[in-house]
Amino acid sequence: MSLPILTIVVPCYNEEEVFTKSYTQLKMVLEEIIENGDIDRHSQLLFVDDGSADRTWEKISEACVLDSSVSGLKLSRNFGHQKALLAGLEKAVNDSDCIVSIDADLQDDVHVIKEFVNKYAEGYDVVYGVRKKRDTDTFFKRVTALGFYKLMKKFGLSLVYNHADYRLMNKKSLEEMLRFKETNLFLRGIVPLVGFKSTTVYYDRKERAAGETKYPIAKMLAFALDGITSFSVKPIRLITILGFLASLSSLAAGIYVFISIMMGKTQSGWASLMISIWLIGGLLLMSVGLIGEYVGKIYEEVKRRPRYIVEENINNLEKSKTPANIK
Ligand code: UDP
Ligand code: MG
Repeated sequence: MSLPILTIVVPCYNEEEVFTKSYTQLKMVLEEIIENGDIDRHSQLLFVDDGSADRTWEKISEACVLDSSVSGLKLSRNFGHQKALLAGLEKAVNDSDCIVSIDADLQDDVHVIKEFVNKYAEGYDVVYGVRKKRDTDTFFKRVTALGFYKLMKKFGLSLVYNHADYRLMNKKSLEEMLRFKETNLFLRGIVPLVGFKSTTVYYDRKERAAGETKYPIAKMLAFALDGITSFSVKPIRLITILGFLASLSSLAAGIYVFISIMMGKTQSGWASLMISIWLIGGLLLMSVGLIGEYVGKIYEEVKRRPRYIVEENINNLEKSKTPANIK
């Protein structure tokens, strides 16, 4: 029986500081798994440069020349983590039997990949890496992330708790996942929708090896909002219910005003009237804004724009190996 070919896909955005360390560690793990006889010796590392402004791509292409087990993909600009990962997955799927995705910053324990491969050998199609605790994250990040998961659950989107994009997928499940063609990509929400036999592996998440987070608060909020609005229309229903309740209370206010008039105290209604105007105005604005979110999504989806654009493709991945043939 031939051994499975594993590809490890690593999206990188301005990661020159951490690249060498990341490459060395991943390479070590890959070698170990190959030595164990669990994967084919054509297994690979694939680094995707997501339009970095620093020397990340230089470092990747250097590694590609020196090491035929490394491939590189350079996107034409910064498309964002999810799309960079998607680009890597789409490139890797043809030449691999199983694919692991991991961040470049070494926050996820690379040794867990061995366990991923074991689970794959046991017949699991998808293996989720789940972090045990979030000690090394800042308090702020911990609280916002937890709030995000809880909110998502309320909105009816089943996410694997504390799982980021550190996972293994086999060819079959990845091919199916790649059939989801939405522009608003939220991969960790899509993977559970694909189904198949899955399991989880637990690990400790560390601090970034070097560099700083590429997810500042604004990007994080955008990511959360994207996640919710891409998968659930519940916020719209929530607004509808709110609107209904607001209408009901205005009815009560109407009765109150009527009684006030009957009692001859009409002037005193001014304050509550003002409040109502503001309340209804606010609700209306909020509703329109939210509907706008979805309309905006439809707009983006119908354009069917390419989700990423490749500038350079260093391909050591193909089975018919010609080392470092730069296209
Ligand atoms: N990343 C990317 N494009 C971006 C932002 C991030 O490819 O626009 C990569 C980044 O290089 C890293 C991974 O996505 O490998 C996760 O980013 P980061 O570690 O900054 O996020 P955090 O762990 O802080 O959520
Ligand atoms: Mg990180």
